[in-house]
Amino acid sequence: MDFSFTEEQKLFRKSVREFCEKKLAPRASEIDEKGEIPHEVLADMATFGLLGITISEEYGGSGADFVTAAIAAEEIARADISMATAVYYLVEAGWGFLMDRYGNKRAKEEILPDVTKGKKFLGIASTEAGGGSDIASISTTMEKNDGKLVVNGAKTFISGVREAAKYGGGYVTIVKTSPELKHKGLSLCYLPVKDIAGITTSIFKQMGREGISTGTININNVGIPSHYLIGEWDNGFYYAMEGFNCARTLVAAACIGAAEKALESGIEYIKERHAFGTSLARFEGIQFQLAEDYIKLESARLLVYKAAWMLDQMYTENRFNHKEINKAVACAKLIAPTVAFDIIKDVLTWHGAYGYTKEAGLERGLRGVASYIIGAEGAQNIMKIIIGREILGKEFAPY
Ligand SMILES: Cc1cc2nc3c(=O)[nH]c(=O)nc-3n(C[C@H](O)[C@H](O)[C@H](O)COP(=O)(O)OP(=O)(O)OC[C@H]3O[C@@H](n4cnc5c(N)ncnc54)[C@H](O)[C@@H]3O)c2cc1C
Repeated sequence: MDFSFTEEQKLFRKSVREFCEKKLAPRASEIDEKGEIPHEVLADMATFGLLGITISEEYGGSGADFVTAAIAAEEIARADISMATAVYYLVEAGWGFLMDRYGNKRAKEEILPDVTKGKKFLGIASTEAGGGSDIASISTTMEKNDGKLVVNGAKTFISGVREAAKYGGGYVTIVKTSPELKHKGLSLCYLPVKDIAGITTSIFKQMGREGISTGTININNVGIPSHYLIGEWDNGFYYAMEGFNCARTLVAAACIGAAEKALESGIEYIKERHAFGTSLARFEGIQFQLAEDYIKLESARLLVYKAAWMLDQMYTENRFNHKEINKAVACAKLIAPTVAFDIIKDVLTWHGAYGYTKEAGLERGLRGVASYIIGAEGAQNIMKIIIGREILGKEFAPY
């Protein structure tokens, strides 16, 4: 066994950290306050090769593996702990990979190069007003009509709606194609949203991740070309689960990055800050919390990189089956946001009243990682259901 990164991975981390400290960290409070990632930041990220990092070189990406992509997710979230920039990055890395793997060549040529250049946003549209966890109950439909595909329905709580509607781009979208078949009647398609007849969008006010929007997409008789079908008709559930595994691993990596940055700043602070004639770091009550936070972070990090490594092993060496991957990824996605939330809360508390200010910059981390506790890329209870199902067997699944 070897728990260390390769020299190449260490160099990659160093260069991404330098890039993020120079180009992203100085804009982090602006991103949260203005509610937008400045376009030049995205352009710089694209030039650096961070956008659509897992997409193959043929379409302008780096063809990065998931350990590499997780390193970048961690570094981006360190620089912008609100998670907004990490979200922009990771949905494209996760779902861009899936589109590259299963999309039609013509569609990929049309869409993916613009994603890697930062000219189009690519996200995931799964959730509907009727519920997000129960994917089999999706009611947005897609039908074949006169050589086209026609989509009807609505998606909600979708990340990046404003960005896609403004700059261009669209979504890997889960639709029902055979209503009588439940989850075996789902398909995936690419749904563009900018200036498309029949598409209207609206944006929610949310509690965090201000730099990237969350909104609703209403889809009224929208015709898309048949080559926008991703993978085989009626096989979408399985592709979607694969895409969620990719994206969830990067979500977990981003949460680790935000927690790590917060903890580092907390360590500095408790050493410097004095109370009762000595530094806060000397008090057992604080040290014990620090020790527990350190262990939580290390455990979560191990689970995150194990999941990323297993994904890479599956894709490159044909090792591990989807069930093993499902369990490893669900463990990482379950632990990382919770650990990040706990750590940022502790560090914020160590800062006393200053921690409660926007200036300290910690509260935006708390608000950001909360999105992943609540449900973005899958609710925490659903991760537990996946873990339980993979341990006990499908016959013990609750439905
Ligand atoms: C900031 C943000 C961004 C998002 N971005 C996207 C996006 O880009 N694309 C997208 O498609 N979706 C997105 N979502 C939606 C997200 O995927 C859903 O929130 C998630 O799937 C849960 O669905 P729901 O919110 O409808 O909750 P529900 O499915 O209604 O669940 C509500 C609660 O019940 C629990 N629950 C549900 N079923 C069970 C069960 N069987 N056993 C025990 N507990 C259960 C859940 O854990 C949850 O706590 C985003 C959400 C947030 C908060």
